[in-house]
Amino acid sequence: MYRNFKLINNVMFGRGCFEQLDDILDVRRKDSTSWMVFVTDDVFRNTSFEKRIPLKENDMLLWVNVDDEPKTSYVDRLTDQVRAFSDILPAGVIGIGGGSAMDLAKSVSLMLTNPGSSEKYQGWDLIRNPAVYHAAVPTLSGTGAEVSRTAVLTGPEKKLGLNSDYTVFDQVVLDPDLLQGVPRDQWFYTGMDCYIHCVESLEGTYLNQFSKSYAQKAIELCREVFFHEDPESDDKLMMASFFGGMSIAYSQVGACHALSYGLSYVLGTHHGIGCCIVFDYLDEFYPEHVNEFREMMKKNNIELPGNLVKGLDEEKIDTMVSVTLGLDPLWENCLGPNWKNIMTPDRAKSLFMRM
Ligand code: NAD
Ligand code: ZN
Repeated sequence: MYRNFKLINNVMFGRGCFEQLDDILDVRRKDSTSWMVFVTDDVFRNTSFEKRIPLKENDMLLWVNVDDEPKTSYVDRLTDQVRAFSDILPAGVIGIGGGSAMDLAKSVSLMLTNPGSSEKYQGWDLIRNPAVYHAAVPTLSGTGAEVSRTAVLTGPEKKLGLNSDYTVFDQVVLDPDLLQGVPRDQWFYTGMDCYIHCVESLEGTYLNQFSKSYAQKAIELCREVFFHEDPESDDKLMMASFFGGMSIAYSQVGACHALSYGLSYVLGTHHGIGCCIVFDYLDEFYPEHVNEFREMMKKNNIELPGNLVKGLDEEKIDTMVSVTLGLDPLWENCLGPNWKNIMTPDRAKSLFMRM
């Protein structure tokens, strides 16, 4: 069965284009009661950027904290706050920030029109009703959350996204100027998320020309960004993230993401750094790319933490292994349909024990 891939309706790109967000949203404001909610990373609170958010009198500025990556309980609380703000639904939900803030915005826009807790919808195509109009303004690039059909959430039982066609943003505003203040380490980790998306797509068994075309371009852009000083680095990374997301949308990620989900479920390790930690141990799967990744780390003076797993309770390590091995499509993409004979629990455990 071929998948009928849902795309974003509108995309704007260019330095300074954030100034046009107001015009974009104006079209959505039907009358004087229409209002917007800006789901904004609280890293921007009390900054000059805060004043540039095109907030109108009736609008809600909803600061979100992403010290922990998005949880279903947090999404439910935020949705309640938005509902309490007005008797009518907002005309739009605008996510401003990195992958976490964008995923929170996607989730809130879905939960405003779908009853119950967001944990009910962790999975594939469980969402029944279309979301409120939702737009993304990335301020950190690499995850591809701006194009994907998922909003990754950690729930009481699992870390799994709200995957649906309704999850896809209606509008994306790509303004490379907004990447300016990102701390260097974070810029690298999230950028490597994109690099790893491309590697796992290109080296996977699900590869097809659609995914390959996007991944090849994105990986080329990553090389330019992480090996060379370049005045257009932010523009390039923003497009790499977008293309990397397009690539995995029609293929799949692989071993690094599967293992990093296990690590993050048990230790709370954030996605970008978690992927970097894991990737450094994957010579047996992606030898050339792991070497290239190490060169990029060296070039950018990045050092990764070690000894995260040694000394953990056996029970926790077993949970890590079972979360990882529960991700069938990722392993199938990496190793083919007989992956269970290759990636045994013992092998997964021994990989974790080195991290
Ligand atoms: P993030 O959104 O968690 O942000 C990381 C840090 O950077 C935070 O402290 C944030 O406040 C800060 N930050 C963001 N923009 C900044 C800016 N311009 N200036 C200064 N600081 C800034 O990081 P991320 O790597 O973009 O996103 C990770 C999240 O994305 C995880 O929750 C992961 O599960 C999710 N994810 C989603 C998808 C998807 O398709 N939906 C794909 C991959 C990852
Ligand atoms: Zn990723």
